[in-house]
Amino acid sequence: MLLDGKCALVTGASRGIGRAIALRLASEGAAVALNYAGNQAAAEKVKAEIEAAGGKAVLCQADVADQAAAEAMVKAAVEALGGLDILVNNAGITRDNLLLRLKEEDFDAVLSTNLKGIFHCTKAAAKLMMKKRAGCIVNMASVVGIIGNAGQTNYAAAKAGVIGFSKAAAKELAGRGVTVNVVAPGFIDTDMTAGLPDNVKENMLAGIPLGRMGTPEDVANAVLFLVSGQAAYITGQVLKVDGGMVM
Ligand code: NAP
Repeated sequence: MLLDGKCALVTGASRGIGRAIALRLASEGAAVALNYAGNQAAAEKVKAEIEAAGGKAVLCQADVADQAAAEAMVKAAVEALGGLDILVNNAGITRDNLLLRLKEEDFDAVLSTNLKGIFHCTKAAAKLMMKKRAGCIVNMASVVGIIGNAGQTNYAAAKAGVIGFSKAAAKELAGRGVTVNVVAPGFIDTDMTAGLPDNVKENMLAGIPLGRMGTPEDVANAVLFLVSGQAAYITGQVLKVDGGMVM
C-alpha cells in the first residue's frame, strides 16, 4: 500500500472532504489522527469505519483557530501515532454575506479558522518534519481563492491567503525535504454546500464542464497523490479539483 507505516493528521476529519481524506489515507495503510471541532459523534463514526477496515485512527478534538489548542492537538497526535509524516489542513468554515452586510466577527471567524488555523498546525508540524527532513503538507484552499465569488469576500481572502502562505512555506521547507502543496476544490457535495439555494446550485453546475458536483472522494484522491511519494518532486503547487470550472 502507498502509505504503509506513515502517520497522518487530518484537520476537520469528522465530515465531508476531511472525512473522505482520512478514509482514503487509512485505506492506503496510514495511521490517521482525526481532528474535529465539536462534532464528536461524527468523528467517532469515522474512527470506527477506519478500524472496521483494519486501520488505525485516533481522535484529536481542537479548534484550529486557537493557537494553544492547535499546538497541543498536533503534539497529542504525534504522541498517539508515534510520529507525523503527513499533515492535511482541511478544516474550514463559511460565513457568507455580501460585503456591505458582512460583520467583522464573520470576517474574523473565517480568517481565523481557514487561514490562521493552517498557520498554527503547519508551524507545529513543520518543526518536527524539518528535524526528520521529510514530510508532506497539503492545505485546502478553494477555486474561490483564485477567481473570487460574490458573497464570499471573507472566504476568498482566506483561501487566497492559504495559497500565498503555502507557496512561502514550500520555499522555506523544501531544503529540509518537506513539501507543501494546495488543493483547490470547486463545487463539492458536502454539508458546506448542502444549504445553498437551488438556483445558486444550478448556476454553479452550468459552469462545470464535467457537468456534475465533485464528491469528497474526488478531492481525497488528489490529496492522496500529493502525499503518496508519487508527488515527491512537486511542491508549492495548487491542484484544482473542480471538474474544469477554472482553467
Ligand atoms: P464541512 O462538511 O462543513 O466540514 C467541515 C469540517 O471542518 C468538519 O469536520 C468540522 O468539524 C471541521 N471544522 C470546522 N471548524 C473547525 C475548527 N475551528 N477547528 C477544527 N475543525 C473545524 O466542509 P467541507 O465541505 O468538507 O470542506 C472542507 C474543506 O474544503 C474546507 O476548508 C472548505 O473550505 C474546503 N472547500 C470545500 C468546498 C465545497 O464545495 N464543499 C469547495 C472548496 C473548498 P465539526 O464536524 O466538529 O464541526
